[in-house]
Amino acid sequence: MKFNIVEEDTGVYGRIEEIPDGEDIATCFICNANPDPEFDGPLKYCSASHRELHEIDDVDRVDENILEFHPFRVLYRPEVGRYMVASRDLQPGEVIFSEEPLAMGPSHDALPCCLDCMKPANGFVCPQCQMPVCEEMCALGEEHAKECDILSRLKEKKIIDDFTEPSKIYWVITTLRCLQWRDADPEKYAIIQRMMDHNKEWKLDKESSWSLYNENVVSFLIDKCGLDGQYTEEEIFHALGVLDVNSVKINSGAQVVNGHGLYPLTSLLSHCCISNSKTVLKSDYSLDCKTTSFIRAGEEITKQYTSPLEPTQMRQEKLRSGWYFNCRCTRCLDPTEGGSFTSATRCLRCGDGTIMPNNPVDFKPTSIWKCQTCGHTSNLEAINKLISYFLEKLKQPEVRSSVGALEDMLEKSARLFHPSHYVVTLVRIKMNVAYIDLTHRMFGDGGDHADEQEPAEVYMRRKELLDDIHKVIELVDPGLSRRRGLSLFEMSTCHLQLGRLLYESERFPLEEFIQLINNEIPSLTEAIECLSDAREGTNENQIHYRAECALHEAEVMQRLLEQKNKALGTAGAGAAILPPAQSS
Ligand SMILES: [Zn+2]
Ligand SMILES: [Zn+2]
Ligand SMILES: [Zn+2]
Ligand SMILES: [Zn+2]
Ligand SMILES: [Zn+2]
Repeated sequence: MKFNIVEEDTGVYGRIEEIPDGEDIATCFICNANPDPEFDGPLKYCSASHRELHEIDDVDRVDENILEFHPFRVLYRPEVGRYMVASRDLQPGEVIFSEEPLAMGPSHDALPCCLDCMKPANGFVCPQCQMPVCEEMCALGEEHAKECDILSRLKEKKIIDDFTEPSKIYWVITTLRCLQWRDADPEKYAIIQRMMDHNKEWKLDKESSWSLYNENVVSFLIDKCGLDGQYTEEEIFHALGVLDVNSVKINSGAQVVNGHGLYPLTSLLSHCCISNSKTVLKSDYSLDCKTTSFIRAGEEITKQYTSPLEPTQMRQEKLRSGWYFNCRCTRCLDPTEGGSFTSATRCLRCGDGTIMPNNPVDFKPTSIWKCQTCGHTSNLEAINKLISYFLEKLKQPEVRSSVGALEDMLEKSARLFHPSHYVVTLVRIKMNVAYIDLTHRMFGDGGDHADEQEPAEVYMRRKELLDDIHKVIELVDPGLSRRRGLSLFEMSTCHLQLGRLLYESERFPLEEFIQLINNEIPSLTEAIECLSDAREGTNENQIHYRAECALHEAEVMQRLLEQKNKALGTAGAGAAILPPAQSS
């Protein structure tokens, strides 16, 4: 049983009410059709192909002849619709399910690219439809075949000659790839039909975007591509709406790919501002959903649609405009956000009080925020203005690249915001990067101080920044998340380098340095685990590799220093008079 904190009619925050458990679904779990009793299993299925979505691949089963199912169930609650829960206790790092995209294609803002493999356009075009493809093979490829015939019907061929600007013709591609399943594979199409669009809200909230899509996708397909009578306006808009709220970003590191894909099981994951799963995209664009933390049997499996570092009002704004819902997760309903204080500001009246919202999910500009120490009040509008001021400043290149300007911003922001507030964290992140750039410029190859040792002071400052950033990440993006992995790596390598510099300059005793290495080895090991599924060619994959190297180096150093310590011990020398290690 989960608990939810509900606003009372008076607008007073704090009443706790039970959320009823979800109901079992009497229809096919993925498409809502009548179940076929022939397809037995833990959920209801209309067909073999829909049960297969729940089955673990035979190669991964204990006995390939005995069916095994992914460890999830799908339940229903009227306010949220279908959602996924764990069917047994799940350990961190477990695969919850694996799946292939139902449809994929270039993103709407992608630069012109091959319509089969999505690599950047190279000037070659498909002999039939004149759209960019890499070569003959791609022109005949399975993906491109889904729209080639239809695009060939255009009386005026869309010739793309500017490869530096996105083209609206790409807006129709994934939509067409969804629609073609209606005749090619009705069971696949039934899943798309069941998926939620938010077209009512879309039409109401964003009229201009609605009419842009009406012209460039719906009218384009019906009038210009001659699909009148084949697809209705509703069908086309539904496919567009489903893609808008359900698609997963596809980007490949090695090739500049900017695409999106529709994944049937992933679309069942609800959002939570502190989530317990992550989706891992593989090089063939299939996807694994893995746990990032321990999930109890029956607990909801959740994913983050927004950055967990952002304050509640910013996350909620993005969720409302992108996904048309108001998040009511336990983090959003708690003014302290689980003790992370990522939205809280500081009281200028009493000096050190924390200002928090009376009702954290009241987003009216006049919503009252109050100092917990002296009772001084402010409102959401004033607080948002303060945030915007800092975010605008941080966008300026002369601020972002200047250590001095950023130090100044940190001092100012730390006076106005809680130390874990998003703005302060963001300044710290930018500062860490600025310090790294500065040391590279000065002490790297070609720098004025290229033959000198980097000063320990820079690492001391970076250590403070990274430790503070990490404290926030531990609270809002815990477990085996990618963000936590990157943070652990940055923090650990900085600690190790600082320890080494201090030890080598005889400012750190050997035993303490050994202790530091002993502490960092588990952090690096965990960073490696967080990033272990990063795809080849991605930045995360590079960090994963660097973390492995750093771990290896730390282990070698640990052995050498322990030998040295032992030798010194037997020689009767005290820890206080240790010679420095050889500089590398
Ligand atoms: Zn079905
Ligand atoms: Zn290609
Ligand atoms: Zn073609
Ligand atoms: Zn939330
Ligand atoms: Zn105060």
